[in-house]
Amino acid sequence: MKLAVIAHDGKKAEMVAFLLEYKDHLKKVEIVATGTTGGHAERAGLHVHRFLSGPLGGDAQIAALAAEKKLDMVFFFRDPMDKHPHEPDVQMLMRICDVHNIPLATNPASARLMMDTLLTKF
Ligand code: PGA
Repeated sequence: MKLAVIAHDGKKAEMVAFLLEYKDHLKKVEIVATGTTGGHAERAGLHVHRFLSGPLGGDAQIAALAAEKKLDMVFFFRDPMDKHPHEPDVQMLMRICDVHNIPLATNPASARLMMDTLLTKF
């Protein structure tokens, strides 16, 4: 299981809280992240492979993995109340997830449903 996690700045604290909530279960999961989100996750004690920061191309790197079908799930906690210079990359990542039918949660409630469903299966 390979999970990508990305959080806009206004949502990074929620992402860390979410990951900590599922920390034990995530030990079995390979996590990749955009640079800054990944740094926060590492400081919270998770093992994460970090790509570039989102605005520098990290979302595009994660989209490339998705296009190659090397990702099982994406948690992208977006901040709808802020502007983002890399919005085209954000849209591209979400489109690629849809093209390849990769589960994508853009808020904690959706991600929780996905995690809880997985936990009942495995
Ligand atoms: P970041 O990128 O984790 O490097 O902040 C996230 C984003 O796409 O905004």
